[in-house]
Parts: sequence; structure tokens; C-alpha cells
Amino acid sequence: MTSTAGANSADTPNPQQRSGQLRLQLQKAGYAYYVQANSIMEDAVYDRLYRELQDLEETFPELVTADSPTQRVGSRPASQFTTVCHHIPLFSLENAFDGDELQGWEDKWRRYMQQQDMAWGDDDRYVCELKIDGSALALTYEDGVLVRGATRGDGSEGEDITQNVKTIRSVPLRLRWEAAGWDSVPGRVEIRGEAFLPLASFDAMNQQKAAAGENLFANPRNAAAGTLRLLDSRLVAERSLDFFAYVLQIDPNREPGDPPARWPQTHWDTLHTLEKLGFRVNPNRELCKNIAAVQGYCATWDRNRHDLSYMTDGVVIKLNDRQLQRQLGFTQKFPRWAIAYKYAAEEAPTQVLGVTFQVGRTGAITPVAELAPVSLAGTTVSRATLHNSDRLMELNIHIGDTVVVRKAGEIIPEVLRTLPELSSPGATLVAMPDTCPVCDSPTVRPEGEAKTRCVNVSCAAILRGSMRHWASRNALDIEGLGEKLVEQLVEADLVSSIADLYTLTVEALLPLERVGQKSAENLAAAIAQSKQQSFSRVLYGLGIPLIGTVNAKTLVESFPSIVKLTGATEEEIAAVFGIGEEIARSLGQWFAVDANLQLVNQLRHHGLALEHTAAESVGNTNSQFLAGKTFVLTGTLPTLSRDQAKTKIQVLGGKVTGSVSRKTSYMVVGEAAGSKLEKAKSLEIPCLSEAEFLELIATSASSA
Ligand code: NAD
Repeated sequence: MTSTAGANSADTPNPQQRSGQLRLQLQKAGYAYYVQANSIMEDAVYDRLYRELQDLEETFPELVTADSPTQRVGSRPASQFTTVCHHIPLFSLENAFDGDELQGWEDKWRRYMQQQDMAWGDDDRYVCELKIDGSALALTYEDGVLVRGATRGDGSEGEDITQNVKTIRSVPLRLRWEAAGWDSVPGRVEIRGEAFLPLASFDAMNQQKAAAGENLFANPRNAAAGTLRLLDSRLVAERSLDFFAYVLQIDPNREPGDPPARWPQTHWDTLHTLEKLGFRVNPNRELCKNIAAVQGYCATWDRNRHDLSYMTDGVVIKLNDRQLQRQLGFTQKFPRWAIAYKYAAEEAPTQVLGVTFQVGRTGAITPVAELAPVSLAGTTVSRATLHNSDRLMELNIHIGDTVVVRKAGEIIPEVLRTLPELSSPGATLVAMPDTCPVCDSPTVRPEGEAKTRCVNVSCAAILRGSMRHWASRNALDIEGLGEKLVEQLVEADLVSSIADLYTLTVEALLPLERVGQKSAENLAAAIAQSKQQSFSRVLYGLGIPLIGTVNAKTLVESFPSIVKLTGATEEEIAAVFGIGEEIARSLGQWFAVDANLQLVNQLRHHGLALEHTAAESVGNTNSQFLAGKTFVLTGTLPTLSRDQAKTKIQVLGGKVTGSVSRKTSYMVVGEAAGSKLEKAKSLEIPCLSEAEFLELIATSASSA
């Protein structure tokens, strides 16, 4: 593995250039987002770039300009509606991206209170609410009747969209003030909340758009914002917008006057009052005593948010005591008494520090971006795959470029795209190497393939990779032959092919670093033991492209020896159910290489299994019993690993997917099952324990 280039002065812009680039890019994104109800980048990417600009401006205050996006709340409203002044400005919210930042916020408001010599109580300090990913609305009620609905706009001025707002069923046209226990209706009441489009309506709307050949909305938030700005309110009415209320402001001249006892004194009570007044209030709210409890709420909803029927992009935390809220007041942009916690992003911008090239066991060379560390989906990412030559060219990556990286769950981080506006004009373009970074032999790019390869069979990287694969759990499962040891064996020239493993003696292993008598003996025994492994494991262990565990098992059923397999034509192999032409071709190409045939002969000589035995077929008699059935696995099974359960299903022709839908045939449920189980139950999908699952398979075998 080697670096093509590290960053030099031409590759990285100086702070002045960088802040200028960031300002332009954020202004462009802000205009698209606020004015055109459109997004040209992911919110999480916008948030990080914004933070970068804020940090730069804090370090170099002379870089702040009057038109910097950090100096304003939102954007000016679009022009097709009448512009109206908000009675009370709509503020933005400060963001927190992790638990430390939440704690930092608490420290900050406490310090502020101390400086002002103000005291605060300790009871039920915070209210946590879901941050609904929609469009903020300001509703004005005069004498209990809705007289105006306006967008947020730039916070001071918005657009009057009253006609459209009136189409939203969950916005009452008249306040049910009697139900709230009020003796009279205050002259003016302002209600704020979020208009949003439920996911089902969003999908239906995009399907209609697709059928009509129109551009699709990128997300439900854009769709809600776009819908609210339609000029024909009949169209708005068709789109089933919904609304959650979260702010109640009563005419300041009447609060806390008549009747004083009835106005809510806490935010929690405000939410109840809003419900009584006839609004929908999001039910997933919680009173929290401290930041630890707030963090717990955030973590719960980070896990469960995908089960909701609408989008949420975080949690809003507000101080519960309204008196305390009044004392803390506002900064230029934010209330000091509230903060928005954003869920861990799965996409973020970061800078490319260099590109390295990894040689895999098949010789395929994978470019890997070395990145400025960035936290993504709860982990720190500093490398991301660039996949292959085609992708590298498509991305047109230069050292120092700002790229968008994505990591979701267990997926390997990848570079999604570059942000060319943020790169330096003189930066170095990255290209695939002409020679292998490990053995220096010329690389080749076979026609029609996206991968550039090293084809030197004795390349140390290929040898290391194939040896690790051979020893892995699903292959020959050689305990003790880990990455470090493989490296040592190759380094010390003790092996130049997999077959050489079977010539190793305890004496030969002893000189290796950190290998004692006992571990050398254990390893030698484990290597010898691997000769007992089945033919299908040997076939998988050879590392032939496209031959995974399932294909290896299927192949040995039809061609029960290496002689039969190598003697079969590509057509015969392709005709086997589940195999097909591509796999048959891959096998043909692999066995056409002399060095590979020699390896097979050597393995035979050392006594490895190259024939399929009847024992391996047990439980496999009716090999396609589960064809057409889809399984979902959830929780920890008592004896089987996920992989083992998956293989069992696949070998019988079944499919395993990650998410539950009406098409799921069975769910296999283990300990600590997550939200998938609830979903499966609600869809009435049959749920099996591991024992029931094994019984199902056994029945299939015996009924064959
Ligand atoms: P914000 O979205 O971070 O938070 C404030 C908003 O949260 C409020 O205006 C309100 O509408 C909403 N909200 C939802 N539920 C709420 C609740 N329960 N209580 C209180 N408020 C609630 O701030 P913002 O100033 O509206 O917008 C800035 C954000 O917009 C950025 O952080 C970014 O994510 C996004 N943005 C994206 C782009 C892009 O190109 N993708 C461009 C500009 C802005």
C-alpha cells in the first residue's frame, strides 16, 4: 500500500480563501433551501460546512462579512405571496451534535444565570420533543379565530399563506378556548408549530409526479415547503399536510394578566393547553430531570425514529419553566433556553488528505481516500473506499478536495461526491497507479472490468489476502492463523502459496516473533486439523471470484469432486440452479490458470478434501425447499450466529433481507430483538424461535 500524494500548499486553500468558498457555497444552498424549497446538499453536510465557517470566523474575526450566512436567521421570503411582518420574530435554534455539546449548552445557560445573579429550581428541568422535519408556521388568532398563517421566511418577515394553511385539517379555524378552561379569549394568540407531510402522502405524491414525468421532491420537508407555497389552495388541500403545534404566545398585554392562574407556567403545560385548544401536539414528548435523561431520550429516538410515519431530524430540548425562559431570553439568533440535538449524521463533508491503494487477495487494487477525521453514524471515519478506477475517474478527486462521505450502520464508509466549489485550483489530481504498490509489477485493467489489478501471482499482498481468506471461519477455519501471523509467515518467506502452510513444522514456526512452543504446536495442529474440512469449504477457501459459501455448497452438490467440477463445461455449470453464466465463467477462468491447477494438485497431495461426502449433504436433501421464501433475522440467537442462520436459509433456496415488509415469510427472533419484531407482529408475519426455525428446516429435509 502506498500514498500517491500528500497535501501540499497548492492543495489546501488558506483560511481567507476557504471562508470565501464556504460563504458562497452556503449562500447557494441557503437560497435553494429557503427560497426555492429545494436542497442542493444534505442537511448534515450543510450543518458541518456551516460549523466550519463559524469556527473559522471565530478564529479569524476579521474574516466575518456582513453577508455571511452565519449573520442571519433564515432567508428572505419568495415573492409570489404577500410579505407579512411577524408579531414576534421566529428564531432559529442552536445545534448540538453530541452529548458533550448538550452538556456544554447546560453549562452555558447556568453560567449566564449565575452572572445575572438569578436562581433556578431543579425539578423537571427539560422538555424533550421530536424535531419535526417540516416547515415552521406562525398562526395568528384574533378573538379566537384564525386570521393569518405565515411561513417563517427570514424570521422577521414571512409569506402570508393563510388560504393554504386553512386547508390543513389539524389547524383549527377557531380556538376551543372554553375547553382550555379560559374565562375569555385573549385578543391575540400566536401559535407556532411545524407543518409536515406524512411519509405515506410524500410517497404517493412522488409517485404521481413520476407518472406525470415531473421532477420528484428530494424529501418530505421540501415537499411540505413546496406545497405550502402553491398558489392554488385546492391543490394544497389534496396533499394531506399535517401540523404539530409547540408554541403558544398570548398577547403580551394580557399575559400574565387576566386570568393569571390559567396561563400555562411551564412548557409542559403549554403543550397540554395547545391540545385542549384543538391542536395536534406530538405525543412523543418527555419531561427530563437532567442532561443524562435528555441523552437517553435522544438515543431512544435515534433508534426508533424510522418507525414513525413522518420524518424527524433531531430532538428539541427546551427549559420547562417559562419564567426561566423569560429570564434567559435570546441571543441575536437563538433562544438561550432551547437547543436542537441533531441525530448522528450518516453523511458529512471532510477533506481528502491523500489516497492510498490497497491490493486485495484477487489482485484487485482499491483506491482508499485518507480523510481528515470526521464523526459519522457514531464512529470516527478517517478512510473511505473509492471503489475502483471507474469510480475514481468519475469522482475526479484531487488532494485537498472537500468530499461528502457516507457511512450507515455497518457499511464501509464511501466517498459519495466531491464539492468542486471548495477545492483549490492547483490541487493534484489522483490517478490509478501503473505499477502495483506492493510488488511494483505493472498493473493491468482487463477489458470490461472496473478494477485495475496486480497479476503477479507471487505478489505478497495477494498471498497475504488469500492466506487470510483460506484460514477464515467460513473457509478452513484455522484457529490461531490471524492477520499478524500471516504477515510474519509471508515476511519470513516461510510460505509462497496456501499449500506451503501444510509443510510448516513446529520448528519452522518457533523463530517467529511472539510464537512460543505451545502456540507453535497449537497452530501446527490446527493446520493439520483443517485437512478434515469439507470439499465445499476448500472450494470457498480457494478464493475464486464470485464463489461464496452458498455457491460453493450448491456447486459441490452437482459436481461432487474437483475432477467433476474441472471436467464440466461452462454450460453445464451455468445450468445449475442458482449459479448462472457469470459464476461459470469465473470458475472457467480460474481453472484455466496453470498456477491455480498446480495449487489444487498440491492441496490434493497434502490430503485436503476435494470430494464431496454424503455427510455434508445431511439436511440438504431438498435443496430448494425455501425457494421463494424471505426471512428476516433479529436479535441474538441462542446457538447460531447470524451468518450460520443465513447460510442455512440460503442453502435451501430462501432469501434473507434486513427489513420487514408484507413480503416477509418468516421472522427468526432471538434475544434482545429490536423494533423489527414489533413491525413483524403488526404485519402478522409468523415469528419463529431458533428451535422452531431448526425444526422447520429438519421437516423440510425429511419431507423431501
Ligand atoms: P433548524 O432546522 O436547525 O431548527 C429550527 C427549526 O426547528 C424551527 O424553525 C422549527 O421549524 C423546527 N422545529 C421542528 N420541531 C420543533 C419543535 N418541537 N420545537 C421547536 N422547533 C421545532 O434551524 P433553521 O434555522 O430552521 O434551519 C437551519 C437548518 O436548515 C440547518 O441546520 C440545515 O440543517 C437546514 N438547511 C439545509 C440546507 C441544505 O442545503 N440542505 C440549507 C440551509 C439550511
